[in-house]
Amino acid sequence: MNLASQLEQYLPPRVLELLTEISEEADRLGQKVYLVGGVVRDLLLGQANFDLDLVVEGDAVRLAQRMAGGPQTKLVTHPRFGTAKLGYGDFSLDMASARRETYASPGALPEVSPGTLSDDLSRRDFTINAMSVCLTPKDYAVLIDPYDGKGDLEHGLIRVLHSRSFIDDATRILRAVRYEQRLGFGLEAATAELLVRDISMLGTISPDRIRHELELILREEYPERAVARLGELGALYRISPYLQGNGWIAERFGRARALKGARQLPSLYLCLVAYRLNKEEGEDLIRHLNLPKSSAQVLRDALRLKGELRLLDRPSVKRSAVYRLLHDYHPAAIQANAVASDSPVACSNLELFLARLRYVRTALDGEKLMGLGIPAGPELGRVLQELHRAKLDGEVRTRGDEERLALSLKP
Ligand code: ATP
Ligand code: MG
Repeated sequence: MNLASQLEQYLPPRVLELLTEISEEADRLGQKVYLVGGVVRDLLLGQANFDLDLVVEGDAVRLAQRMAGGPQTKLVTHPRFGTAKLGYGDFSLDMASARRETYASPGALPEVSPGTLSDDLSRRDFTINAMSVCLTPKDYAVLIDPYDGKGDLEHGLIRVLHSRSFIDDATRILRAVRYEQRLGFGLEAATAELLVRDISMLGTISPDRIRHELELILREEYPERAVARLGELGALYRISPYLQGNGWIAERFGRARALKGARQLPSLYLCLVAYRLNKEEGEDLIRHLNLPKSSAQVLRDALRLKGELRLLDRPSVKRSAVYRLLHDYHPAAIQANAVASDSPVACSNLELFLARLRYVRTALDGEKLMGLGIPAGPELGRVLQELHRAKLDGEVRTRGDEERLALSLKP
């Protein structure tokens, strides 16, 4: 099969030209270049994907070096891994020398040696990700599909390449579910059996690698689907006994997406998945996933705030009290509570803080107060605080109001 028309249709002309230049240069060096992985899968699905991975039969670093040098090209190489990245302003190309991988023990990183395209495809996770498109001028755009990934794409199946696949690398359990749910596919029958058989292999994977795959899931368009499926398969429990993937999650993830301006959706999702935890369980999860400082802080804040929400559950609570309670919490943790809480009153207070209260500033600052004759020192701090409180509660509005209040507070 030849994919020339799909390449034309789904890749911008500029990218196609570049691929042609690369393959011609490779040809001069006696090397062969192929597009591999996700982009080939997505071309066959009729979807654009500018995340371009190239495999080079030969030395990818040398080829990349020959392509670099243009004014806008940025080159980063990792000679030890035989990989290079060429950056062209708004997009980049990942190039890797074809390699063979062998797994010394389950879950360990593989041992790598140079290989052919066929070796490189045989180390991959699923048939639909183990296809390539030849870019060499002679066989331009020919599909190379040793495991019938195209057939599996047509039948909507996620299939591993061999029966040890999940044992070698159990992150593939998470990846299988991610693609299954993203594409609306199913696990092929034998693959499903192997996945369930090998589910305990998730225990062989380092926290960092588990976290990375979890982050990829939380970056999907509808992550709740994969989260629920992992729950159903018993995989979520193996990642951490604290995580949940039930219907509540699906409903709240939907709510989170509907929020206007919900930035940092993945970290919001993580708080929701972990929302039922108490403080100690939260700390366990943070250790278990080796969460980086910033996400750990968001999660800690979200769980701590959960314990204080009843203070916001009264319609009469003053705006300054809402401010005092919330201003130390990370905004993403506040947002998580606004999505997770069942109290409409608490939610509207959380949202009021995020939308308005956190930005409230007084017109007068320390310097202007000193201009009014208030001496520097702790008294000045107290006056500033009182002005801010009065502004939040609507007791002062204009600069004039603030000046009058400040003078009345003058010691
Ligand atoms: P996505 O659309 O999610 O980015 P992708 O196919 O580009 O999909 P990547 O995670 O970017 O996925 O990986 C690129 C390719 O590397 C995959 O298509 C797959 O062939 C291979 N790959 C990635 N992770 C593994 C793994 N754990 N085991 C085997 N092959 C893998
Ligand atoms: Mg990719």
